[in-house]
Amino acid sequence: MLETVKSIKMSPKIKTRFAPSPTGQLHIGGLRTALYNYLFTKQHKGKFVLRIEDTDRSRYVENAEIKLIQTLSKIGLNWDEGPVMGKTTEITEKGQNKPYFQSKRVKIYQEYAEKLIKSGNAYYCFCSEDRLKKLREKQQQNNQPTRYDGLCRKLSETEIQKKLQNQEPFVIRLKVPQSGEVTFKDIIRGQVKIQTEDIDDQILFKSDGFPTYHLANVVDDNLMGITHVIRGEEWLPSTPKHILLYRALGWTMPQFAHLPLLLNPDRSKLSKRQSDVSVEDYLDKGYLPEALLNYVALLGWHPKDDKEIFSLKNLIKHFDLQRVQKAGAIFDLKKLKWLNCHYIKQKPVKELVKLCEKFLPEVDSKLLTKILEVEKTRIEYLGEVGELAEFFIKLADYPAALLIFKKSNKEKTLQGLKTAEDSLNNLKSWNKAKILQTLTKATEEFNLTNGDVFWPVRVAASGKDKSPAPEEILEILGKEEGLKRIKLAREKLNML
Ligand code: GLU
Repeated sequence: MLETVKSIKMSPKIKTRFAPSPTGQLHIGGLRTALYNYLFTKQHKGKFVLRIEDTDRSRYVENAEIKLIQTLSKIGLNWDEGPVMGKTTEITEKGQNKPYFQSKRVKIYQEYAEKLIKSGNAYYCFCSEDRLKKLREKQQQNNQPTRYDGLCRKLSETEIQKKLQNQEPFVIRLKVPQSGEVTFKDIIRGQVKIQTEDIDDQILFKSDGFPTYHLANVVDDNLMGITHVIRGEEWLPSTPKHILLYRALGWTMPQFAHLPLLLNPDRSKLSKRQSDVSVEDYLDKGYLPEALLNYVALLGWHPKDDKEIFSLKNLIKHFDLQRVQKAGAIFDLKKLKWLNCHYIKQKPVKELVKLCEKFLPEVDSKLLTKILEVEKTRIEYLGEVGELAEFFIKLADYPAALLIFKKSNKEKTLQGLKTAEDSLNNLKSWNKAKILQTLTKATEEFNLTNGDVFWPVRVAASGKDKSPAPEEILEILGKEEGLKRIKLAREKLNML
């Protein structure tokens, strides 16, 4: 069915859209779709639309559209047309194609559904749920594809009018030609060809008075002047139906680009069970928007030179829709963490302090600044600072045996701690350089090793086997607290 022919036709004015359904939080895959649309549009100085596809009322999640808009705004992707949040949860809309919520455009879709009926490209279907269920079961038993059998295609005009007058519930279905083929060139997948006999008579309008995704999506893409439809691969099977709608309505098709699936490391479809998939979850944990954008940009696209660090501005410059791969892209949390570390290291401590306040609300910004100066090169996401820096605020209980380095012993460790305590006690200016100097001198003077002094002092100060260097922790703790912790360590060890 597929053959690779890649080319992008450029219309004079590029217009794209991101069209999420408010069925939950913004998914990592959704963010990638939004980003690719955004990058492609910005490269061509086009317009980017945000449209909320909320006609499937059974899957609607209360306020999900508000969350989607907020998440996209936090991430820093701007759109030229569509709903925008005011200061509160009030939504306004910008752009000449208002409204951008499909639930507010039902009349428009109704009009087009009727047009399609009049032109013989759609028909009323009065089949009951029960009949359709039995039909499906029979087809399944016979190992046939489940699809509508076209019974209502055969209704006469009089029969239809009678049923309508009797107010029998109905849906409107697309009258898919019984022979012929649909072909289109997908920017990523190349030439796609499908026989119309393999396409089901898709429902366009449901009995609840709402259009299906297919009708609303095509009508809006046309009315809003969308030139390029860039969306996930899961919509590829729907595209032939959309093309039939474009044909039936006499409209020019946009160009399509179907982005590769996102996969778990075991190559199954990316799922919540294996990692977080909601963008908001990552933001909540303290992943930076720039890291998330950089990361999702690389899910299916690679620059020629294998460069990996890209600001949004650089992505606009280098991203190439034609270089997006067909094969599924693996979601690799390690790489996301690596990128996040990179952006955390780059950020001025002052900015990090602001971003970290929510993770350590009880710590004042002066202390938080000191903590971040030490921890910023060690954390993978900002939320970690809460766990990693807890000991600065309160020393948790730890086993005394942790104080003894593997090449040392109890006696030497006790000697190391005592030496450290005594020499630090005499120290006048309490800063990390002086602390380091003092500890080094004490180690040499008493013929001890780093394992006898630095290791136990660090554990004494942090209560942890992994933590920053002792002089860094002691400086932040201050002389009094620092010495108190070393003394406590000696007491603990004496009781061992
Ligand atoms: N509303 C669809 C979604 O939630 C959009 C599909 C499309 O972009 O055509 O993904």
